[in-house]
Amino acid sequence: MRDEIGCSILLITHSLGLVARYCDLVAVIYAGEIVERGAVADVVRHPAHPYTADLFTCDVEIDAPRANPPLAQSFQVIRGELPALRDLPKGCIYAPRCAHAVADCTAAHPDLRPLAGKPGQEARCILTP
Ligand code: SF4
Repeated sequence: MRDEIGCSILLITHSLGLVARYCDLVAVIYAGEIVERGAVADVVRHPAHPYTADLFTCDVEIDAPRANPPLAQSFQVIRGELPALRDLPKGCIYAPRCAHAVADCTAAHPDLRPLAGKPGQEARCILTP
């Protein structure tokens, strides 16, 4: 349809498997803010933000074909819960759920920054180069 009528299509989904299959560009949003964006091929190959990487580990679309033992046993979830949007954590809002969090993560809210050596890909994480 996009090619036939020359339009853009915005797909909003929790499934990065669908994004990988159908999209050119992706913006990964956590608790209302973009934490990573870039070309799908780049983000799928090298997810720069821990939330993006965590999403890949719990994506049914991606996990189903390689699930052995069966999917119910291999399916993963991200620990913790989404924060209340009226009471966001200080600093990085993903810090309470992030397995890579360090003390500096709660000091200041990280900006969305371009990744070194990866044109067009940006991430909101103090640990990304
Ligand atoms: S800034 Fe820290 S807590 Fe936030 S995603 Fe990066 S490593 Fe995790």
